[in-house]
Amino acid sequence: PRAPAPRRIVLLGATGSIGRSTVDLLERDPEGFSVSAVAGGSDVEALARVARAVKAEFAAIRDESAYAALKQALAGTNTQVAAGREAVIEAALRDADLVVSAIVGAAGVEPTYAALAAGRDVALANKECLVCAGVPFMRMAAEMGVRLLPMDSEHNAIFQALGGEDASRIERMIVTASGGPFRTWSKERISEATVDEALNHPNWAMGPKITVDSAGMMNKGLELIEAHHLFGIPAEKLEVVVHPQSIIHGLVAFSDGSVTAGIAVPDMRTPIAHCLGYPDRLTTPTPRLDLAKIATLTFEAPDFDRFPALRLALDVLRAGGGLPTVLNAANEIAVEAFLDRRISFDGIARHVAEACEAALRDGTANAPATVEDALAVDHIVRERSRSALAGRAASGMLLQ
Ligand code: NAD
Ligand code: MG
Repeated sequence: PRAPAPRRIVLLGATGSIGRSTVDLLERDPEGFSVSAVAGGSDVEALARVARAVKAEFAAIRDESAYAALKQALAGTNTQVAAGREAVIEAALRDADLVVSAIVGAAGVEPTYAALAAGRDVALANKECLVCAGVPFMRMAAEMGVRLLPMDSEHNAIFQALGGEDASRIERMIVTASGGPFRTWSKERISEATVDEALNHPNWAMGPKITVDSAGMMNKGLELIEAHHLFGIPAEKLEVVVHPQSIIHGLVAFSDGSVTAGIAVPDMRTPIAHCLGYPDRLTTPTPRLDLAKIATLTFEAPDFDRFPALRLALDVLRAGGGLPTVLNAANEIAVEAFLDRRISFDGIARHVAEACEAALRDGTANAPATVEDALAVDHIVRERSRSALAGRAASGMLLQ
């Protein structure tokens, strides 16, 4: 049964793609939910709009210089306003039944971990939390006895396909991938892909970082690492299959040969609603599945040669230790450099591989025992990656 209404929600990353989809659902059910806090990065207007729409008690913006503007934008409302790193953590700690973690990147680690440590149930859209600091995250969730609900569509599908069954009876866990905009492209063509081409995802409208990750299939690699931590499944039992229609999102194969799957029209509001309502179900306005109309579902093996980021992430998952932390940080900076048109598309995976090799040589890749350790590694790798990629002129090596 559902917790007594209204459920109190904290929404971190409220102005992003996941944030806006979450707000869409919250707005449709004002009786069912109340919003204790919203937090965003730097877009004052967007954050103020969201805070007004959901009548948030508290609004935090990461950009410290945005305080006055946010204060002004929310004048005449009952929303309290704060700015800066501490303010985002304060938002995460506001009283809530569920904290939605939808900040992009390792920036989400501190506030999300703070919420877990305070005993809050968390719905996790932000996969970088588990890639950067998976072991300490899962340990804290277990210690506090809190729920960590997967909001990422594949993991949400697998969570539902698992139906609470014993992990020892699982033979394989399969995550599907759309294949992204470059699924049928040659290696040569992918290497020269422009920013606009990488941002042109066939099935999902998402923030720029995850969209670029999807184009190179790094996103699928991050998701394997995420699944490994969330479900306690070893790398050998994790698989990727390319499924361009994105109707089946994840599958679980059991020891008796049974396979269960999570199936839905690709719309993030479905996994978001599953988390918001859990263990009850909400009613969403998403398009309904019509298999006869879709007619054909197809599958293909991933191509590690054309998508080296996926192979790299798998190697990093198998190696473990601090390498996932390194991979995540280097990838964030490389994606930023690509979006700034400072490096080529294939330069992203190349840079991440170099960063992992460098970390293996000098001990940066030792397993971080705590979230603080993981964030220290994250910081070192970011600085290194920034200086390694800073020399690239915006126009020099690329004409886009
Ligand atoms: P986005 O870029 O659209 O939004 C990111 C949000 O984070 C924005 O609200 C932004 O203001 C906020 N933010 C950025 N830096 C911040 C900081 N330092 N402090 C506080 N807030 C900050 O990204 P998105 O597509 O919504 O993705 C969010 C997360 O969810 C990512 O980790 C992504 O991998 C994951 N995810 C997204 C989708 C999707 O469909 N968009 C699907 C699955 C998982
Ligand atoms: Mg996903």
